[in-house]
Amino acid sequence: MRWSQSFHVTLREAPGDAEVVSHRLLARAGLIQKLAAGIYSYTPLGFRSLRKMTEIVREEMDATGAQEVDLPILQPKELWVESGRWQRYIDDGILFHLEDRKAGEFALAPTAEEAITDLVRRSVTSWRQLPFNLYQIRTKFRDEIRPRFGLLRGREFLMKDAYSFDVDQKGLDRHYEKMEAAYRRIFERCGLEYALVQADSGAIGGSASEEFMVVADTGEDALVFSEVGDYGANIEKAVTAPLPEPWAGEEGRPFGRADSPTPDLITCEDQARHLKTDVTRITKTMLYETVDAEGAARVVAVLIRGDLDINEVKLPKALGVMHAKLVDEKLLPAIAGCRPGFVGPIGLKPPAGQPEVPVYVDRSMENARNVFCGANAEGLHHSGLSVKRDLTVAGVVEVATAREGDPSPTGTGTLKIKRGIEVGHIFKLGTKYSEAMRCEVADQGQKMIPLMMGCYGLGVGRTLAAAVEQSHDDDGILWPVALAPYACALLSLQRDAEVQKAADGLYDSLKAAGVEVFYDDRDERPGVKFKDADLVGFPVRIVVGAKALAKGGVEVSTRREKKAEVVPVTKVVETVKATLAGGARSLVVPA
Ligand code: ATP
Ligand code: MG
Repeated sequence: MRWSQSFHVTLREAPGDAEVVSHRLLARAGLIQKLAAGIYSYTPLGFRSLRKMTEIVREEMDATGAQEVDLPILQPKELWVESGRWQRYIDDGILFHLEDRKAGEFALAPTAEEAITDLVRRSVTSWRQLPFNLYQIRTKFRDEIRPRFGLLRGREFLMKDAYSFDVDQKGLDRHYEKMEAAYRRIFERCGLEYALVQADSGAIGGSASEEFMVVADTGEDALVFSEVGDYGANIEKAVTAPLPEPWAGEEGRPFGRADSPTPDLITCEDQARHLKTDVTRITKTMLYETVDAEGAARVVAVLIRGDLDINEVKLPKALGVMHAKLVDEKLLPAIAGCRPGFVGPIGLKPPAGQPEVPVYVDRSMENARNVFCGANAEGLHHSGLSVKRDLTVAGVVEVATAREGDPSPTGTGTLKIKRGIEVGHIFKLGTKYSEAMRCEVADQGQKMIPLMMGCYGLGVGRTLAAAVEQSHDDDGILWPVALAPYACALLSLQRDAEVQKAADGLYDSLKAAGVEVFYDDRDERPGVKFKDADLVGFPVRIVVGAKALAKGGVEVSTRREKKAEVVPVTKVVETVKATLAGGARSLVVPA
């Protein structure tokens, strides 16, 4: 493509709302343009990169034997009610939904479990038709609370979603392993550094779920790794080994009265300082409103050590409920009789219809002795709480948020925290959807069984942006060859006839040799052309200028090393091909 004939435009300034480098560079390079918050157009060059990404995904999915389908994005509410997700997605505010002229309600698909389950249940009747894995690469819609970071968190975005169907767990395990391997190949082909981490699989299900993460400082996810590399988990799911107990070996002192004033001190750290003790000796008592699978609501108390925080993603599962949200400040005084900061496990008044407020204890407090806890009275704490002696514990749970430096759950080394971008998610769904939507087949004994499902998502646009997050410099993008809009940029520096002729000739021979080339033949200053080529990030650059040409050569360089070498015109095609074949990390000039 000749730039003079293309639609392509680069920008001097990044858009004002671009907070992360991939957003800034993709926009400045002219690869994407915002239409509305979280909604982007791909320009011709941007779309070429997206198509390359899509093609890698498609090839690797096809190689596993998965089959491509194309499911509707506009989906009737009834399907979503059947799976039980309509109300939840509405409540979470994530679902884009609309009415047709007859007042029928529809969702714009945020994901497609319902649609695929419907397709399959209408088509299969016998175990003989299984197993299979169906995928699509299609737009998804989610009304994200905070659409931002350009392609990383859009409201309309391209996702590859695959759904495997099996008659048993063994089959599902096999599909899951195949998908994991395919994802590894996809991210490797994109030149990405990634990590596979354990992920939260939600309140129901409980089976395996892992995320592919691109490690990047701007990532929205916190990842927990063990120093020695034998553990990796999303912080939403991460556990630690039990922490040392400061009270170990101590005798239990008698339970104190509400004898420890902590006036106006809300945080455990401040209270500890005031009470001249360590923050590990302060009990944090948190009250949650929970809703179980049957819809029954209940208030519970959860105790955790003062230096730790409750992980509210882990909490519902640990409590065996669907949702758990903090009791709000309006309800709190009715139950605890005080503001947050002074709530304690003893003397809580249950809300109407609930006999008592059950007390759950995080593992960090299970054996606690001689600790302080809130007295359920403004500005007061109790001393001398010994959990096993003084409380009726409804359950010991593991709900602490992992911290850097905590002991690894594998028993060796400590934990480190890094930031990451979730680019893929593989998930053993089990029979959650097939049971709810009666997607069943007759097994070998003619018994009807719900199918075992797995689902495998991959953000196509997000991965493209993640590649930019990971690979750029001050001047622009450093595309891996596999994702670059064009593999090579050809720049003509002067409008002189010799230069034009040589550049035109190279353009033709490169194209004839199958090299993707973007030819900057514009009437622009050399400085502008260099800057633009760096910004868009073509892996290889060929510069045709009068000076080198007089000696029979042109300058060739890679975007990564930028060190130009004069290569004889006759050797350019060969050089470019060899350099691209080597990943364009450095220039390869054949002898
Ligand atoms: P996140 O936690 O980042 O919101 P998610 O866990 O909700 O993502 P999934 O439902 O697992 O996302 O979707 C599968 C994949 O789709 C993700 O791994 C991610 O790569 C991509 N994806 C999800 N939401 C977005 C979005 N808003 N914009 C771009 N890609 C997305
Ligand atoms: Mg996910």
